[in-house]
Amino acid sequence: MAINESELRLIVSQVVEQLARQGEAPAGKLGIFNDMNTAIAAAKDAQKVMQTMPMDFREKIISKIREKILENAELFAKMGVEETGMGNVGHKILKHRLVAEKTPGTEDITTTAWSGDRGLTLIEMGPFGVIGAITPCTNPSETILCNSIGMIAGGNTVVFCPHPAAINVSNFAVDLVNRASMEVGGPVNIAVSLEHPTMETSAVMMKHPDIHLIAATGGPGVVTTVLSSGKRGIGAGAGNPPALVDDTADIRKAAMDIVNGCTFDNNLPCIAEKEVVVVESVADELIHWMLEECGCYMVSKEEQEKLMGVVFTKGTALNRKCVGRSAKALLGMIGVTVSDDIRCIIFEGEKEHPLIAEELMMPILGIVRAKDIDDAIEKAVWLEHGNRHSAHMHSKNIDNLTRYGKAIDTAIFVKNAPSYAALGFGGEGYCTFTIASRTGEGLTSASSFTKRRRCVMSDSLCIR
Ligand code: NAD
Repeated sequence: MAINESELRLIVSQVVEQLARQGEAPAGKLGIFNDMNTAIAAAKDAQKVMQTMPMDFREKIISKIREKILENAELFAKMGVEETGMGNVGHKILKHRLVAEKTPGTEDITTTAWSGDRGLTLIEMGPFGVIGAITPCTNPSETILCNSIGMIAGGNTVVFCPHPAAINVSNFAVDLVNRASMEVGGPVNIAVSLEHPTMETSAVMMKHPDIHLIAATGGPGVVTTVLSSGKRGIGAGAGNPPALVDDTADIRKAAMDIVNGCTFDNNLPCIAEKEVVVVESVADELIHWMLEECGCYMVSKEEQEKLMGVVFTKGTALNRKCVGRSAKALLGMIGVTVSDDIRCIIFEGEKEHPLIAEELMMPILGIVRAKDIDDAIEKAVWLEHGNRHSAHMHSKNIDNLTRYGKAIDTAIFVKNAPSYAALGFGGEGYCTFTIASRTGEGLTSASSFTKRRRCVMSDSLCIR
């Protein structure tokens, strides 16, 4: 990497200016402010510095972020579970490692070229500037760290609006990103956040003239709000992924894959199996293996009623005290005591059963019988509710797999594996925690956070 003297002087002066601004932020954590407008101004300053830096330097910052995530994976996992009461420490450690190791960096920023008689034309990926990012409480630090790597690789800085229920772990992640930057000689405030984010501060961010792109990761409400903001929005919304099992599948393996995916981080990932649709002829066998080998507990009709009483508050509104809890804890809430081996609650029901039709984010897996593959596809498509988010299937019949894939039309379609294979965990491909199903980017990466620019040299520079 070669930085000339004037570039170096500019970087140093801007870093000094930002450190002075940092004095306005609460002491201790880097990049955390009390006021949204000040936070955005600081991120804008940092982006100006970022623009003067060579691509190699962005990569240097990203490498340091990766290193620090790996060092702190256990701390993040423990903080997240403690603060939100949701998820599983062991699984959260794996998720942070995945972010560190498999989130694409600057290699995702590529150039397309046409060279010919009339010269040379390039399409290059440029930064948006300061991106606004709204993040969920279900994968809080995972999303902030993953978004930061991708957005910084694209040459942007980012202002986060984290979920208030996960503010400590979220802001710890923002601090880590800035510390990584400073340790390698980069600017602070490449990621910023607020001490106390609210709906009002998000509204300020969404209307701010220096924010040109907003990435929203969360439920349907926030995605709709962002897409109504008048700005370019990346909408990573809710799912309700059905796992379909047909009569050609390896049923024993399907049972284990489905339960492994469903129980990962207590079902918090939006991609996780939320219900099963199984062809009648293999339904008993699937349930047999789930009970025999996969740590499942079958709840009776009476226990289902009790579960509904605790899982929903009014109507089908979720009781937040149940989201991301273990099967053992959920069963405990209805007076059922089980051993630590029990990790998933199962039952049979019609697709309209509220514990099946609603996105619960709990290790509760309703099983719907279908008379044949046509019926199974129809039921699974209904259960996905048109989110076009994620769907999974266990089958060896290529025609059935193809038909289901086309019918359900989701951003993610995992075959013969747990859902987390879609994130590069036990499957090929990169990792993300922002799956933009609504706006079509699919699994976001650095290139999703850039704008395309055409750069044309007419009648020259073609040297073929
Ligand atoms: P949530 O929608 O309650 O909150 C997400 C974020 O949006 C939070 O920061 C919250 O403060 C903010 N928010 C909510 N309503 C808002 C509004 N009207 N205006 C501005 N900000 C608003 O979601 P959650 O409980 O934190 O996360 C779980 C949901 O997110 C599930 O539905 C899950 O499927 C979805 N999710 C999707 C993805 C994906 O990549 N597609 C990833 C994680 C979670």
